[in-house]
Amino acid sequence: PPQEAASAAAAAPLPVLPRGGVSARLDISPLLKDPVAFRALIDLLEDHLRASFPHIDFIAGLDSRGFLIGPPLAQRLGIGFVPIRKKGKLPGPTESASYTLEYGKAELEIQSDAVEPGQKVVIVDDLLATGGTMRAACELVKRLKAEILECLVIIELKLLKGVEKLESVPFYSLLQYD
Ligand code: IMP
Repeated sequence: PPQEAASAAAAAPLPVLPRGGVSARLDISPLLKDPVAFRALIDLLEDHLRASFPHIDFIAGLDSRGFLIGPPLAQRLGIGFVPIRKKGKLPGPTESASYTLEYGKAELEIQSDAVEPGQKVVIVDDLLATGGTMRAACELVKRLKAEILECLVIIELKLLKGVEKLESVPFYSLLQYD
């Protein structure tokens, strides 16, 4: 009977959400869809970077949601954008770094000539969870001998302590969740 089924469903433990489910819960799409909120987001990030650093050469954005935040931010600052992509997407010689995901391994790549040694880079993404993705991105930028001024995200999941994986690299998050 429907009533019994409904109470059984209510008593059942909540399913453990797969990665896709978690991502859907912390989706920044509504923020991007609202032009006033999107503008406010970029305003806040621009203000933060202008106040923190006198000179930045590039914004590097992580595949794929870092591609939504990085380019408008770079345009505001009048500087260029560099993509850090998942394996096999970038043409030409690349550097690659592997990292551990919740369910397996993945690899990130940067074009070998993307930045010059000594150039100052800010790395951006939508969210820091375990920190593995951002750490791999840092490894790539460091391998090109550029200087990482900061890793910047919109959302930090504090309980996962991802910031510890970044070691001494400066980190900034706009919003923090437990
Ligand atoms: P990490 O490597 O565990 O820090 O995961 C961060 C990367 O995975 C970022 O590129 C995020 O876009 C994505 N990600 C991980 N968890 C979530 C989530 O709960 N919501 C949205 N994106 C997530």
